[in-house]
Amino acid sequence: MSGEGVSGGWDKQIDVLVIGTGAGGMASAVFAAHRGARVLIVEKSGLYGGTSATSGGGVWIPASDSALAQGQQDTPEEAYTYIKGLTGNMVADARIRAFVETAHVMKREIEAISDLRFTAIPYTDYQAEKPGGKMGYRSHACNTMDARDLSREDFETLRTTHPSAMLFGFIPWTIMESAPMITRGPGWKTTMAKVLWRYYSDIPQRLRSARSRFVVFGSAIAGHLKNALNRDGGELWLNATLVDLVKDASGRVEGAVIRKDGRDIRVHAAKGVILAAGGFERNQAMREEHLPGAESRPEWSAGQENNTGDGIAAGVRAGAATDLMGEAWWAPTLSVPGETRARPLFYERALPGNIMVGQTGERYMNEARSYDIAGRAMIDADRPDRRTIPSWIVLDSRFRRKYPMGPVLPLVPDWLLPKRVRQMYVKAKTIRELAGKMGVDPDRLENTVNRVNRFAVTGVDEDFGRGSAPYDRYYGDQSVQPNPNLAPIDEAPFYALKVYPGDIGTKGGLATDETARVLDTAGQPIPGLYAIGNNAASVMGPSYPGAGSTLAPAMTFGYLAILDCLGDPGAA
Ligand code: FAD
Repeated sequence: MSGEGVSGGWDKQIDVLVIGTGAGGMASAVFAAHRGARVLIVEKSGLYGGTSATSGGGVWIPASDSALAQGQQDTPEEAYTYIKGLTGNMVADARIRAFVETAHVMKREIEAISDLRFTAIPYTDYQAEKPGGKMGYRSHACNTMDARDLSREDFETLRTTHPSAMLFGFIPWTIMESAPMITRGPGWKTTMAKVLWRYYSDIPQRLRSARSRFVVFGSAIAGHLKNALNRDGGELWLNATLVDLVKDASGRVEGAVIRKDGRDIRVHAAKGVILAAGGFERNQAMREEHLPGAESRPEWSAGQENNTGDGIAAGVRAGAATDLMGEAWWAPTLSVPGETRARPLFYERALPGNIMVGQTGERYMNEARSYDIAGRAMIDADRPDRRTIPSWIVLDSRFRRKYPMGPVLPLVPDWLLPKRVRQMYVKAKTIRELAGKMGVDPDRLENTVNRVNRFAVTGVDEDFGRGSAPYDRYYGDQSVQPNPNLAPIDEAPFYALKVYPGDIGTKGGLATDETARVLDTAGQPIPGLYAIGNNAASVMGPSYPGAGSTLAPAMTFGYLAILDCLGDPGAA
């Protein structure tokens, strides 16, 4: 590693150096700056916010003040039981306990020192039926932001929401607005009118750009945190890439080499370096080496392009151990021609009137399960004689008219869809003809569809139990009975789109302890070095307990890292 054993010759002296501007990195920088530390956060790309800023901005925080104030009953102990049940022995107890006991404290402090606010919402845990699971109020939505509260430069360099998390791919909405519109729940037309009005009535901005000044989700998290960082004197460098860590003679990480404007800058961090540079989802070689499945491609990922595992590689060069490298935050995704990131199918699979089939034309899972379980199922089911990579999602015209399927939007006739979206599907007048276009056995596909159509009448999916779990039903259409997740696929024409086992980030990374200290291969902390977010092996092990399970731990372990490296024993 560069500079190993070399002290002195520094270009810049600070207290805390943070690598990467995702929610965890930005929050760490804010926690440190607010404590009076000299902080620098560096970002490889020209935009700050990372995949976090493109995300839904949900954070999963058990037993928060917000949930309790809404009359919900929850405790860190119940959350521990839930996570422990999902992770088995794959994650150290001390880390799980640190997360469940600190997340609500972190929330309180970030709200005290920034304009960020998180409100607990009635969003079901992904496996609410398991011990310790809850039917809602652990996932939190963040407050929105008016772009006019940011400086012009901070707005222009703020990474925007992923198209899959916006109405029509470009109009921001809140999570509580999106649910009725997606599922055609009560009041969806009024809600849609409100969302459209908010966007189109901002005439000065519409004349300037298609980008909305109504900043939502993860983008709002990044914006609020940037303002807080500015207020507390933290510094952020864009287009500044971690090249390597620097250790002193005792083995302590004392700084890093950052490449900016073609120059290598040696930054000394007296208190610590926080690696928050994301996962390795956009690194083909690392995917091939670590992720399961016969094939695994960066373009199936919805994660942003700069997450090439740099922080993990730098940690390993500094002697760190890794864990969970074969795991990702899986999600079935669609690939839109011309787009660099895939579109995750978070909820569409749960809507009634579609099925997912492998290349034999047969179903192999409950399509309405959470995206993490569904994405992983695509990989696990894949066999040389029974390929499920890629799979197909099949729907009929009733579905097409009523619900979205990625960028294939309801209410928009085929001929009005952009050409690149039309290229994503095959379409036919009969299921047999559709099978021919998909290259699958027509008899098998027809049998599959006929069987599901019978299930839609009885309401019972005898094969995979679609609609039986609380989370399945969250995105069901309650007007469809007896099972809101099942409707017959019988109205021509029929459509099929290819689906890939993608992800919204990887979750294997550097091994860390309960204060986010990076551990070496002997299990000992490497002094001065911390890792959070997808740069570290996830506290959730192979599981995805509920919406916000990636951002909340990133911010919580960022908080714990700052308390540890600045020697602050207490919470806010
Ligand atoms: P990032 O947020 O990606 O930040 C890492 C940053 O490090 C990037 O900006 C990157 O450019 C930078 N970087 C990389 N290498 C270097 C280097 N060498 N030097 C300097 N900087 C570097 N999760 C949730 O919890 N809740 C949600 O609601 C949610 N919704 C999602 C919706 C979508 C559409 C997607 C795609 C993801 C969603 N996720 C959600 C997942 C979540 O966004 C990611 O898991 C999370 O953002 C990862 O955070 P991170 O800080 O590890 O990485």
